[in-house]
Amino acid sequence: MDCIALDGQLYGWEDTDMRILCNLGHGTHGAVEKVHHRPSNAVMALKRIPLTVNKTEQKKLVIDLDTAMKSGKCSHIVQYYGAVIGEGVVWLCMEVMDTSLAHLCDIVYKETKSSIPENVLGKIAISVVKGLHYLNSTMKIPHRDVKPSNILVNRKGEVKICDFGVSGHLVDSVQKTRESGCKPYMAPERINPESDVLNNEYSICSDIWSFGITMVELATGTFPYEKWVSPIQQLQQVVDGDPPRLPPDKFSKDIEDFVAKMLTKKVEQRATCVDLLEHPFVKKYEEEDVDMAGYFSTVMEKQCDLNENVQGH
Ligand code: ATP
Ligand code: MG
Repeated sequence: MDCIALDGQLYGWEDTDMRILCNLGHGTHGAVEKVHHRPSNAVMALKRIPLTVNKTEQKKLVIDLDTAMKSGKCSHIVQYYGAVIGEGVVWLCMEVMDTSLAHLCDIVYKETKSSIPENVLGKIAISVVKGLHYLNSTMKIPHRDVKPSNILVNRKGEVKICDFGVSGHLVDSVQKTRESGCKPYMAPERINPESDVLNNEYSICSDIWSFGITMVELATGTFPYEKWVSPIQQLQQVVDGDPPRLPPDKFSKDIEDFVAKMLTKKVEQRATCVDLLEHPFVKKYEEEDVDMAGYFSTVMEKQCDLNENVQGH
């Protein structure tokens, strides 16, 4: 699919049509830039991923990318405009957001030494669970890489998940954690070689676990597994250890239970998206008005102030 689809219009892919505006971030494998696409006058995010997978995997990737392009109709997932597979590289064009929850978490907990309020967590949870539910029930794909850096937000107060389906084919996340010492968001059944689920297709249940880990990190500012151990030991903690919980007496019973229902090691007992959408924590914040736009804008401005102070000194 060597073209970009925007507002029902198709544009041929030309490198020269893209003007780089700024750098949006860098992951383990590639860079993401904010670009202006001249023919459509649209501003979008362009992600470059080096291809290290074999031909069979590439085929799967193309199928997945096709699915990703049909992502347009859900307001909780980042829209994809097009993908180009070149020599050893994939270019992905997608909707541009302002920042990721990983970055937001850093600003809130490390730089401003505050915490993300529970009502904001409530609204984030609603968007992510609805996004995962849409991926699973309508697009029929699991996410495969749920974590704070794959949940994006903007100053309008929107929360959207990105990098679904695709990244799982590009880099095996168990292998990635082993090699690079990444934080293990993946569920115990993805790691444990004795688990029955491993031979089956990746399922949404594993995404729910990863979102549980993500929620604990967003609520506390810390990743719930110890970091100093080796990557293998780190994975072992997920398989052998007790599932993480929110620290007692700091949060409402509703959010404690919401997290516990996701972080259930037995897959059959873990909550599904439908269960979570019926949970009192979700119900409560579905009815409450929370100024998400105001919250995200304030946090992002704080970072701009901090940057100016650093530059000024
Ligand atoms: P990893 O490579 O371990 O999966 P990652 O998710 O941070 O980590 P990328 O997906 O390459 O890596 O993204 C790098 C950063 O770019 C993200 O953390 C995010 O801040 C930013 N980013 C990615 N996509 C967008 C987008 N559509 N709009 C705005 N920023 C984005
Ligand atoms: Mg990502």
